[in-house]
Amino acid sequence: MNKIIPGQTIGIIGGGQLGRMMALAAKEAGFVVAVLDPGHNSPCGQVADIVIQAAFDDRDALKTLAEKSDVITYEFENIDAEALSWLSSIAHLPQGAELIRITQNRLLEKKMLEKADVPIAPYHVIEHEQEIYDIIESFGFPAVVKTLTGGYDGKGQVKLSSMDDIQEAQELVRKNGACVLESFISFDREISVIVHRNSRGESTTLPIAENIHVNHILHESIVPARIEHGVEKLAEKLAYQIADELKLVGTLAVEMFVTDSGEIWVNELAPRPHNSGHYSIEACQTSQFHQHIRAICNWPLKKTGLLKPAVMINLLGQHVKPAYEAISRHPDWSFHLYGKAEAKQNRKMGHITILTDDMKMTLKEVHESPIWKTT
Ligand code: AMP
Repeated sequence: MNKIIPGQTIGIIGGGQLGRMMALAAKEAGFVVAVLDPGHNSPCGQVADIVIQAAFDDRDALKTLAEKSDVITYEFENIDAEALSWLSSIAHLPQGAELIRITQNRLLEKKMLEKADVPIAPYHVIEHEQEIYDIIESFGFPAVVKTLTGGYDGKGQVKLSSMDDIQEAQELVRKNGACVLESFISFDREISVIVHRNSRGESTTLPIAENIHVNHILHESIVPARIEHGVEKLAEKLAYQIADELKLVGTLAVEMFVTDSGEIWVNELAPRPHNSGHYSIEACQTSQFHQHIRAICNWPLKKTGLLKPAVMINLLGQHVKPAYEAISRHPDWSFHLYGKAEAKQNRKMGHITILTDDMKMTLKEVHESPIWKTT
């Protein structure tokens, strides 16, 4: 595969913040950026050279994107896999459509993870609501029932702590069809390993992030993750195993649970740059967005070393106003806003990254800040 060079056009399917930060990285190197998104004035559209405003599965619009682009990538996983597969026959889509097909479906994803020989929580497919009773007997509480497709930020899942929760889980199966029931892992920490790979098979991982969620939405990533060296090495090894199994080109975020005895369980995958990797823009030798662009353009991958420990905290709709008020108090904080017009409750509007030599102090400062007092 030839290199894509500056002056050529990178097409991005999806105009959200991930597309925007990809586009900004691409623009730095001198690429032209085209974006396809149904929204008007999307976060990525605001910084792109060419905007195609249409639905993601609109074949005419995808064809136009293909005509304008030398390489195409995507910024989110809920693209119609059929449309993407068709697109790969008329355009240069180095990531292919298979990665999307697998990561869109929890069962396909789990089967692939088993093939990659990485540990995942024991699970069972539930085809019919009545099966939950039988299966929970062998699994025991606590457990989680998850829809096969479409779940995000805790949506599409029900935790089973006791028999009292069975009805809610049955409702999930009734509404969504087959689900998976998996053991609830009593984890000490959640971490993510972001791995990049190019078509020459070169791969890198970013320093591991420790992720803290509030109301099922990522709130804070702390880097380096507060885990032992052996756990860190194992987590990286597992991420590489998955990337190789998938013959990954581009970016894959691997979310994992770490127990207090240092065991690792792989939870789920995202086939794109990830919220927990935003810190890399300031804190790493190469950001996840620059590395993504290098990977899909078949450039050699750069080193990803951590320049300084960092914490990244998300700004949701309710945090934007107090964040603006905090700008003058924090000259060393990097504010990233995504250009979204409406600051709706719980909508990801931006993030802040803080580089620090004293993580304890910085976390104290963050936790005491009025910005995140409104939940
Ligand atoms: P997911 O949509 O699979 O990423 O799940 C969202 C969140 O729910 C995870 O980040 C965990 O905090 C929690 N969770 C999901 N599955 C499990 C599990 N098997 N054991 C413990 N916690 C889980």
